[in-house]
Amino acid sequence: MTIFQKMIAVPVLALFLFSTFLVYSYYEYQQTSGKIEEIRDHYLPLLEAANDNNHLFNEIRSNFKDAVLAGEPLWLPVTEQHQAKITDNFALLQQNPHLVDLKQLEQLQQSFNLYYDNAYTLAKTIISNEERLIAEAQLVQDVEFYHNAANQQFTELKHAIQDGFRQTVDETNQVMNQLLFFGATMAIAIMLFLFIVTLVVSLSTRRSVYQVIERMKSFALGNTDFSQRLHRKNKDELGYLIYWFNKLSDKLEQDYLLLETVSITDKLTQLNNRSRTDHYLPQALEDVTANNQQLALVILDIDHFKQVNDNYGHLVGDNVLQEFAKILKITAREHDFIARWGGEEFIIAISNTDSDSVQQHANKIRIKVEQHQFPEVGQITASFGIALSHPNDNVSSILKRADDCLYQAKKQGRNRVVIEQNSAG
Ligand code: GH3
Ligand code: MG
Ligand code: MG
Repeated sequence: MTIFQKMIAVPVLALFLFSTFLVYSYYEYQQTSGKIEEIRDHYLPLLEAANDNNHLFNEIRSNFKDAVLAGEPLWLPVTEQHQAKITDNFALLQQNPHLVDLKQLEQLQQSFNLYYDNAYTLAKTIISNEERLIAEAQLVQDVEFYHNAANQQFTELKHAIQDGFRQTVDETNQVMNQLLFFGATMAIAIMLFLFIVTLVVSLSTRRSVYQVIERMKSFALGNTDFSQRLHRKNKDELGYLIYWFNKLSDKLEQDYLLLETVSITDKLTQLNNRSRTDHYLPQALEDVTANNQQLALVILDIDHFKQVNDNYGHLVGDNVLQEFAKILKITAREHDFIARWGGEEFIIAISNTDSDSVQQHANKIRIKVEQHQFPEVGQITASFGIALSHPNDNVSSILKRADDCLYQAKKQGRNRVVIEQNSAG
């Protein structure tokens, strides 16, 4: 997945989750508003009817005590009105079977009718004939009994409706609380998710970008170690950047190695060149001096080389130089340093040696050259001057002494090795 896709995917996913939550919230909201409507349209009138009934029943009862027992006939029509109202309220309650227990309501109606019929009969008896009051004592007791029963059931029905009402309100409240809790949790979870993904992507991106910056900085400051490669598992934009950066490092490394080789190699003979020698000799001298050893410098010069050029041409001369270099390479030991010093002059630097072995080695080369048949030219010879380092010596002084020896070799007739006299050390 690319960085761009990751950065886009995160808000899209968050948007999707939030939209889902909005749909869910809307659904819950509709449910809740339905319940609130139910409270408003049904529970409140029902509660009112139940309260009204309780009130009317208590009116009937108290009027019965005050008026009927005092013999006032007005109780009858007033009570009839109350009874009619109570019956209407019962009808209203009956119309809401999902909110009212119909069985409970039916029992209440029966209890009320029992009370009402008995109370009405007793009232009529009392009002029409006071003297039979005692005889109606049983009826009085019945009325009292039916009143208690009905009264209890009126209260129970009212409480049942109140309980239903309270439960509906509690449920609505609970849904709202859940919605609030769910919404808050969702918002926090989405923000946390966004934060974590953004943090992970940013850190990983930053790490890789810094790696590239560090490497580029190092190149810009002249570090020529191009061998290091960067790594990134993800095949995203930075993965491609790092892939091509590594390719660039490959190219730079190859080019630099080539450049380095070219800069220290003599083009004609493929030996070390003068510049490489200038760099090598002081270091080699320092090493042998530190180890209490000697550095031998052998300067070789092809004899009468000018005549080769003159007789066979410059190209043949070049071939002789290449052939001569090959002999030097073949004869060299593992740690010998061989270079073209300039023109038809060569130099061999040998560390940790002594005058005898270097002299032997130089002679060996001399003989090889002498015995070699150079194409077109045939036999050629070379002269050798050798100097060995003393403590506190420097490269120029050894070179000077070796060069003096070479001069002596030429002077003494060429094709010979001359080593400085006090070189044994
Ligand atoms: P001596 O024995 O005293 O060293 O004599 P010589 O002729 O070798 O020495 P001299 O210094 O007079 O001549 C060296 C010649 O080497 C002169 C120059 O033309 C030739 N030379 C130098 N570099 C090259 C090269 O790269 N290719 C060819 N073909 N000739 C070269
Ligand atoms: Mg020369
Ligand atoms: Mg020469």
